[in-house]
Amino acid sequence: MDSLRSQDGSFPHILHHGAVSGVTGSAHEWVVSDSASVLIDCGLFQGRDTGPAGASSGDLAIDFDISRLQALVLTHVHIDHVGRVPWLLAAGFQGPIYCSLPSAKLLLIVLEDAFRLGISRQPDQVERFLTVMEQRLVPLPYDHWHAIECADGSEAEICLQRAGHILGSAYVSCRYRRDHVTVFSGDLGASHAPILPPPASPEGADVLVIESTYGDRRHEGRATRRQRLEAMLVRALADKGTLLIPAFSIGRTQELLYELEEIIHGNRQRAMHPFLDWDELPIVLDSPLASRFTQVYRELSPYWEDEARERLAEGRRPLAFDQLLTVDDHEAHMRMVRHLAESARPAVVIAASGMCAGGRIVNYLKAMLGDERHNVLFVGYQAAGTPGREIQRVGRGGRVRLEGEDVAIRAEVGSISGYSAHADQQDLLRFVGGLAQGPAEVRVVHGDADAKRALIHKLKAYFRGEGRTVKVWSPSE
Ligand SMILES: [Zn+2]
Repeated sequence: MDSLRSQDGSFPHILHHGAVSGVTGSAHEWVVSDSASVLIDCGLFQGRDTGPAGASSGDLAIDFDISRLQALVLTHVHIDHVGRVPWLLAAGFQGPIYCSLPSAKLLLIVLEDAFRLGISRQPDQVERFLTVMEQRLVPLPYDHWHAIECADGSEAEICLQRAGHILGSAYVSCRYRRDHVTVFSGDLGASHAPILPPPASPEGADVLVIESTYGDRRHEGRATRRQRLEAMLVRALADKGTLLIPAFSIGRTQELLYELEEIIHGNRQRAMHPFLDWDELPIVLDSPLASRFTQVYRELSPYWEDEARERLAEGRRPLAFDQLLTVDDHEAHMRMVRHLAESARPAVVIAASGMCAGGRIVNYLKAMLGDERHNVLFVGYQAAGTPGREIQRVGRGGRVRLEGEDVAIRAEVGSISGYSAHADQQDLLRFVGGLAQGPAEVRVVHGDADAKRALIHKLKAYFRGEGRTVKVWSPSE
């Protein structure tokens, strides 16, 4: 099957190579002539998602024609948006790779990891890959038009604007002949997310390609969410156990640290329990990768929103507070697992992977799930088929398989669903409603079927109410 083609072949048009029927494998090709196009994202497929031409989590080889590609633009560094870049280079892509300045700082860390896991752990190959990446990377400032050099002289420009999703995230406006603008939303941030400012709408778009991950949902308010997290901490640590939080390394981890600092700051010099003061609660970040990302977040505080920067100005250190302990090498990690499993020292541990499918969180789970003093708190979406989903589903009293081992669950299992770095339905509608000009067409991508349907329905109703004729559809239908 060829990639999904939507128009009659006039220019510009769009080909979708991923994130159409699911939420992963983002790759959209903006085609400006028979011999020139720009690829927006090149992400990994995860779980059961597949690409229109057959790529999947098991077969990441590039499954579309790359002969036209003049440039690659990356909206942000999550693996489902950048994970197939090594495969794109292997397929012979020679062009520049554009992203925002903060994304460029994070990208090499992400791709080094992806390269080691998916292609080769040989140091010389890793080194060569990183050298090529450094040569190709062109960091762009936000809010500036940049001309793409097309071999056939086609007139194409791009402009990155802040998307508020994770550090460095951007939505991309693509302008053809200074006249026609297509906006690719990438992933958009939630309006009340900590650390980063929410996205402002683009000035105008003829065509808008928009994500719909939470197109059918409303998030809880930030204050409610934080109160629930605080209550959960108090309850979980009452029996001197450990609270385990599986979390993704970029975005979610930093948001959690930021919220935990706020909770601890608000409870200064108070006791949580007779045996534990808030000021003494250890927060253990046990993930070298998450620590590196957190370091970059700290270095790039000029990109934070006002409130977060005010805290810095007050002398607070939202991502490096006193009780935050980081664990680096593997031996120290195993020592920490044993110490917390055996002692009665209450602590909070944040470790990857977010869905418990691997990474250091698995060692904690194996050592602690069998003890009722401990707790597991899920703050992110758990995909079907992952151990995280299984633990969430069966809960206390059930069993789960972890790396081939059958583990009984006696620890308490809880979830807070409000933490998400994604815009909810209201945020997405606001983003579209804020456009000063256009659009004539909205394409809804990057969501499961229900989310896409719900957002399409809402958008149609919105435009109808405005008395405007706008084509709203999903390329998967
Ligand atoms: Zn993302």
